[in-house]
Amino acid sequence: MTQRLSNKIALVTGSSRGIGAQIAQRLAAEGATVAVNYAGSEAAAQEVVSSIVAAGGVAEAFKADVSDADSVSALLDAVVKRFGRLDILVNNAGITRDGLLVRMSDDDWNDVLSTNLSGAFFATRAAAKLMMKARTGCVINISSVVGVAGNAGQANYAAAKAGLIGLTKSVARELASRNVRVNAVAPGFIETDMTAGLPDAAREAALSGIAMKRMGTPADVAALVAFLASDEAAYITGQTIAVDGGMTFA
Ligand code: NAP
Repeated sequence: MTQRLSNKIALVTGSSRGIGAQIAQRLAAEGATVAVNYAGSEAAAQEVVSSIVAAGGVAEAFKADVSDADSVSALLDAVVKRFGRLDILVNNAGITRDGLLVRMSDDDWNDVLSTNLSGAFFATRAAAKLMMKARTGCVINISSVVGVAGNAGQANYAAAKAGLIGLTKSVARELASRNVRVNAVAPGFIETDMTAGLPDAAREAALSGIAMKRMGTPADVAALVAFLASDEAAYITGQTIAVDGGMTFA
């Protein structure tokens, strides 16, 4: 594979499973040294690390709960202590707590906002200080088409994902003069644990709204993230790019 990311240090939050795991593997395959972050799935994170190392790459696992500011601060410190700097931050960690608005509990709201939005804020704030000083770096936020279009039953998740787009645009404006780029990726309906539990009817309904009539794979998302992290995307910042097989048409 082309080594577009050689000598780069990357941190991918929530990369023990699903899209994050694939992003970690793809960035490593393109030459980056990768910090694989996980919250609970230690064995899965170690497997991602092992697969990267077996393929000739460099990676290490780091435990941290992104919804906790101190935990994220310690994570960034640990990554920099271990690898010397940080060039690429991918804010991927995310959860769902679906339910209709009128039945949504405060916890369901707060848990999703803290992990999916505040987590990215904590990590980006810490990374920005390093990247501004280095006069180089990039941040990629994994949003969702739901953050653009909304979705019944996902008010908390859609609000967090829309928040990520606002965060992306604002921070892109703040950091552009320091040569730090910030972009968002908006996946559509991707095959992972997050979508595995959907009832058949919901799956069929989602598929019927996709022009390409198939779900996406984590690899489809990882390919875009690798491009955005590379110098090929040197003039792209503040954008939200969908990877959704034609689910939304901006
Ligand atoms: P997934 O398979 O459920 O994996 C979620 C990952 O996030 C796991 O590695 C998990 O780590 C980690 N995580 C959860 N809470 C965390 C926390 N507090 N701190 C650190 N890590 C945490 O999800 P996925 O489908 O790959 O989704 C990845 C991202 O893509 C999410 O932001 C999601 O919203 C977004 N997305 C997914 C889809 C889709 O269709 N799948 C569509 C659009 C956007 P542990 O297992 O260690 O807890």
